[in-house]
Amino acid sequence: MSTPIWETQLYMGKWQPADGPQAPVTEPATGEVLAKVQTATAADVDRATRIANDAQRHWAELPFDQKAEILRRAAALLKERAEEINRWNTRECGSIGPKAEWELQATYEQAQMAAALPMQPSGQIFPSSLPRRRNYWKRVPIGTVGVIAPWNFPILLAMRSVFPALAMGNCVILKPAPDSAVCGGTLMAEILEAAGVPEGVFHVLPGGADVGESLVQHPEIKMISFTGSSAVGERIGETCGRMLKKCALELGGNNAMVILDDADLEAAASSAAWGAFLHQGQICMQAGRHLVHRSVAERYLEKLAERAGRLVAGDPWQQQVHLGPLINESQARRVEEIVVRSVEMGAQVVAGGQRNGNFFDATVLAGVTPQMPAFAEEIFGPVAPITLFDSDEEAIDLVNASPYGLAAAIHSASTERAQRLAERLRVGMVHINDQTVNNEFQVPFGGMGRSGTSGRFGGPANLEEFTTTQWVSVMEQGIQYPF
Ligand code: NAD
Repeated sequence: MSTPIWETQLYMGKWQPADGPQAPVTEPATGEVLAKVQTATAADVDRATRIANDAQRHWAELPFDQKAEILRRAAALLKERAEEINRWNTRECGSIGPKAEWELQATYEQAQMAAALPMQPSGQIFPSSLPRRRNYWKRVPIGTVGVIAPWNFPILLAMRSVFPALAMGNCVILKPAPDSAVCGGTLMAEILEAAGVPEGVFHVLPGGADVGESLVQHPEIKMISFTGSSAVGERIGETCGRMLKKCALELGGNNAMVILDDADLEAAASSAAWGAFLHQGQICMQAGRHLVHRSVAERYLEKLAERAGRLVAGDPWQQQVHLGPLINESQARRVEEIVVRSVEMGAQVVAGGQRNGNFFDATVLAGVTPQMPAFAEEIFGPVAPITLFDSDEEAIDLVNASPYGLAAAIHSASTERAQRLAERLRVGMVHINDQTVNNEFQVPFGGMGRSGTSGRFGGPANLEEFTTTQWVSVMEQGIQYPF
């Protein structure tokens, strides 16, 4: 098999040789080095930015139907190369097959929806107090947009920004996470090149925090779209604020499932297992806190522990499993540490609780109190901590006790009661009689508080997010002012 071009070159508007170091691509399930990837330097960020800025006007001026055609071709190519993309998602990121397939389908939908954006109305006409003057207001591209992505859903979370940003006439420089540089980066460069994105318009710069910081600090990159941890997002927000740079921050979560005393416990436990253990719990919307009414807690715990006990963890490339590996050893150790510290403070392990290398059992913890790390911290692992409450008021206080505010779920036989409760939760998304991991691409997605800047991705929100506006007034002829 020939060596992939991305082992030695960077996609900076087209494939180009680069001087930075190569980084190994390691399979988290086995520790095997699968390939190497060319990484970028601060000088490459500068070079890519200049190339992108030169290309941006021509891209923006390309008729809308031609931009749409390129995005539709990218969507088709994602499907044509599905086997290869899913294989990388499984081996590079530890995704089980159905997760990889779902992620690819979701990315396909994003491309199709972005293809429809350039033909949306792009402005409004306003009256004027002056005679013979017309006022109009229109959406214009921002310029060059830097997209910084995480490793957990590396394709979707990169491309949900890349596609609409391109659709609205921006150039884009994507920095994938080091743990997912191939499926979340270099493969997407190949796809967009083959789809016919003109030279100079799209760039992929693999690398770590240093490359991300160079993007954020570059004065000619006019927007940063960041998805990742709250700690890094806060830092990026500070820099962007100082530079008056637009920034969209989609950050961490510590999402609550609220089980009221009238809930259907079978459905609630099924939702809870999916929300807590899907993709080894490495999802920003993971059901990371289970708040359960005391009167139903014992039955809920039993049902959830029984489901957790049936789940098999293993190498998703070699066998059919429910849980693959965590992304790397430091994440696996972090999850273990949160469980151990919580148990030392009095929590009880009801299912799982063991780490085996990068693998971690589906775990249920009972007796969790707000002081314990399993309640207070984003776990990002397959752990379901259970905390009891006695009234709806107490449940609301517990949900809102977290500084994060991404998603919540409420289980109740009364949708009216659940909706009343939902109104009082400080979270960006609430799902009634479902679990917290939900994403429908036509519905604006996003969090509050430490989960982000309340910006939104998806559907009509993309028009707002990836454009700025310009007011143009037109006088039929000049007038005389008093001096
Ligand atoms: P992370 O913040 O460590 O890294 C995210 C990206 O930022 C990576 O590409 C990384 O290389 C880059 N980066 C790191 N330091 C940087 C810096 N100083 N400047 C610029 N870029 C920098 O997050 P992660 O571990 O890759 O992802 C997990 C986190 O992402 C979790 O907290 C999760 O909740 C969050 N997340 C949020 C959403 C959402 O939509 N709200 C979705 C997925 C993941």
